[in-house]
Amino acid sequence: MTKQINAGGLLIGGGAPISVQSMTTTKTVDIDETVAQINRLAALGCDIARVAVPDFVSADAIGEIKKYVTLPIIADIHFDYRLSIRAAEAGADKLRLNPGNMRFSHISQNSKSAGQYSTNSDGSISEAGADLPADGLRAVTEICARKGIPIRIGVNSGSLSKKILSKHGRVTAEALYESAIESIKALNRYDFDDICLSVKTSSVPLTISAYRLLSERTGYPLHLGVTEAGPEQMGIIKSSIGIGALLADGIGDTIRVSLTAPPEREVEAGVAILRALGLRPGYDIISCPTCGRCELDIVSLAADVEQRLAALGSDITVAVMGCAVNGPGEASRADYGIAGGASGVGVIFAKGRVIKKAPMNKLVDELFAILTPN
Ligand code: SF4
Repeated sequence: MTKQINAGGLLIGGGAPISVQSMTTTKTVDIDETVAQINRLAALGCDIARVAVPDFVSADAIGEIKKYVTLPIIADIHFDYRLSIRAAEAGADKLRLNPGNMRFSHISQNSKSAGQYSTNSDGSISEAGADLPADGLRAVTEICARKGIPIRIGVNSGSLSKKILSKHGRVTAEALYESAIESIKALNRYDFDDICLSVKTSSVPLTISAYRLLSERTGYPLHLGVTEAGPEQMGIIKSSIGIGALLADGIGDTIRVSLTAPPEREVEAGVAILRALGLRPGYDIISCPTCGRCELDIVSLAADVEQRLAALGSDITVAVMGCAVNGPGEASRADYGIAGGASGVGVIFAKGRVIKKAPMNKLVDELFAILTPN
């Protein structure tokens, strides 16, 4: 079992339920839009939300945002360690940073965005903590320790140091693991160990391998994700395979589906992944792919049933099957279901046994009359 951390009351790791997270796409300084988006994410099943903190104004905004949301807030920090301190002071519940890309000497006090921060001429990232003044990292760990704020070390394929890359020749699972260990050591130097880890890449097999190494060799809670997974459909497929394979092996404590799509879709996909693996309660829908025996407009009926089930909020499984010949039997694990029948009359079944017949155009209404008795 992994170590447990507490992010603003949300427990991650140590056997706590797997949490779903996402990241807002609004400008963090736009309080109204950010609050509205976070609250929409919460309504869809999100457990913790991350906001971008590219400047001090965004860090300060966290304090105001937290007045209007119930979700714990993660501050996403790059380059400037002082943003971590400012976000922690403002009330961030967790920080996401990578000690390896924290910089000091290139940043002016008046920097307004990460885009103004220079990088090495070859685009590489320094060794973990190498550019970070010792008292800077100490200050970050001190305020986090004092306020009980955990830190996620977010390693990805673009954040590997030149030294690690030249040692391994390319981005490998071992290289990602080694980078995470360097960052852990950087924080441990200041007796800070309230840590969560991620080693994301856009390659599903590589991501799975890297997380397996972390799981085998460390006891830190793991934040799972396939980064830059792509547009909605491909992104969900990659994330479902990567995150799902790890979760099915018992690896992972919190997940983020990363999509080139609104964050609402990320949360819906994350919740669906957990439900598909039986890791989060909620409704399930079984529907057949249809074939030449189909007697119903399954596509629209399944969508209708799913929408009503979501509104119902019950932890039940409902089947929508195209025909009564095979339908109830094929969907016998469903609590309830509907199936098409001959002569415009379908059936409603429970645990594979027909309990009622109804005209096809009344099947869904009749089913939900049973599911929601007055
Ligand atoms: Fe075909 Fe009936 Fe099976 Fe659906 S339930 S796939 S319609 S046989």
